Amino acid sequence: MVKTPFCQFDLRTGVLCYKCQKMIEEGKYSELDFEVARCLSELENKGYSLIKNMEFLKAYEKSGFLIILMANGSIDRGDLAKLEKEVKTKLRAIRPRYVKMIIKRRTERSIIEQIIQPARLLSLNIAWFPDGSSQYSIKVYPSVKRMYIPKGIVESILKEIFHREVIIEA
Ligand SMILES: [Zn+2]
Repeated sequence: MVKTPFCQFDLRTGVLCYKCQKMIEEGKYSELDFEVARCLSELENKGYSLIKNMEFLKAYEKSGFLIILMANGSIDRGDLAKLEKEVKTKLRAIRPRYVKMIIKRRTERSIIEQIIQPARLLSLNIAWFPDGSSQYSIKVYPSVKRMYIPKGIVESILKEIFHREVIIEA
């Protein structure tokens, strides 16, 4: 069964229990997370067995670009693309323009690599500031124009994922 932060019962009924509602009120998860988790669980019930062993971590949305962060995926890129298509059709209420599923692996680097596709990651540097904050500077190859998701959206979603400023150098 696909793992999500929400109870099975809530996913089935579409109504949040007190405990799950609280996670949303506290800002740990969002209504969007619940909608995406429901969508994945419905796809699994419809026989989409590829997601059975996966875990849904979080969803991020900006200007119609929906990034779904997953874990435990041993699914290949081709099957992932099929799944993205299913999710895009199923999430009619949210109407995403573009859906991308990203598999969380050991390094932050791998998340960046997946999100900037089909461009590639040339370098990743971290700068620390006197106030203790930090910033990632990313260079992509051959250029930011090659990224499917616009630069500003990639920066803003990565900032949300990593909780630090992210700059993609042009
Ligand atoms: Zn619940």
